[in-house]
Amino acid sequence: MQVFKEKTPLQEAIKAAKSKAETIGLVPTMGALHQGHLSLVKQALEVCDRVIISIFVNPTQFDNPKDLEKYPRTLPEDIKLLEEASSNLWVFAPTANELYGDNISSEQFNFDGLEQVMEGKHRKGHFDGVGTIVKRLFEIITPHKAFFGEKDFQQLQIVRKLIEKTGLPVEIIGCPILREDNGLARSSRNERLNTNEREKASFIYQTLLKVKELFGTKSAEYIHNWVKEQFTNHPVLKLEYFEIADTRTLEKINRKRKGNTYRAFIAAYVDDIRLIDNIALNNEE
Ligand code: AMP
Repeated sequence: MQVFKEKTPLQEAIKAAKSKAETIGLVPTMGALHQGHLSLVKQALEVCDRVIISIFVNPTQFDNPKDLEKYPRTLPEDIKLLEEASSNLWVFAPTANELYGDNISSEQFNFDGLEQVMEGKHRKGHFDGVGTIVKRLFEIITPHKAFFGEKDFQQLQIVRKLIEKTGLPVEIIGCPILREDNGLARSSRNERLNTNEREKASFIYQTLLKVKELFGTKSAEYIHNWVKEQFTNHPVLKLEYFEIADTRTLEKINRKRKGNTYRAFIAAYVDDIRLIDNIALNNEE
C-alpha cells in the first residue's frame, strides 16, 4: 500500500492509472479510522479499480479550537488497518501546508440554504470548511466517484450540491451508517467515551428508532416535545438539537407532505464530546 504525503507524486500515479482506464474512487476522511470508514472503503473497492483514502484533519471545518485540538490523530494505526483491508489502496495524508499553503482559510459557499440549518447553524463556518476541502481534494485527485457516509447526512447533501454548483465531474455515492452492537453510530469521537458513556450514548439511536415509530401516527410537534422530554435529566447526554427535515432540502418539516421523504437528526453532547446521528423516517428514498 502506498502512502502519499505530497500531491504531485499522487497526481502522477493517478495519471498513470487513468491512462490504463482505471476507475478512481475517493474516500475522504479525517482519520482515526474505524469500521464505519472501512465500510466506505469496501463499497469503493467493489466499484472502482483504484481507491484513494485521504486522511486529513481539516482545520477550517472546526468552529471550536478545543475540538480540533482533541480530535484523535492515529496515522500509523490507520495505515495498519487499511493494509489489513486491502493491499490495493492508496493513502493521501497531506499536511495543512500541502493543501492550503500558508493561507488556512475557507472559501465562502452558497449551498441554497442547506448550510443554514442543523450542523451549519450550530457550527459557524463548518460547511464553508467542508466545501473548501472537498473541492480541493476533488481538484487534486479528480476521482470518478467519491464515497460519503449518511452518518453525516447534511454533509452528503452539501457535497451533492457542491457538484451541482461547480459542475465537477464526480459521482457522489452515499453509504449507510455503520453502528456499534448497541446501536451507537460509529465515530472517531467514540474513542473519547468511557465504557459507561458509550453504553449510555446508544440512547441517541434508541430515541431515533422510537421517533421513526411515532412518525407514522403523531405530529412533528408532538414528536419534538417527546424527544426533548426524553433528554431532560438524562444522566450523560445533553441534547443540542433535534430536527425532522425534508431529505432533499433539509428544511424543517411543517406538516407531512405525501411523496416527500423525511429524516430525523440528533446532535448531543457527552461532556465536550459531540455526537450526531440520523435516521430515515419513511423509506421511499
Ligand atoms: P470523518 O473521518 O468523520 O470525516 O468521516 C469520513 C467519512 O466516513 C464521512 O463520509 C463520514 O460520513 C463517514 N463515516 C463516519 N462514520 C461513519 C459510520 N459510522 N458509518 C458510515 N459512514 C461513516
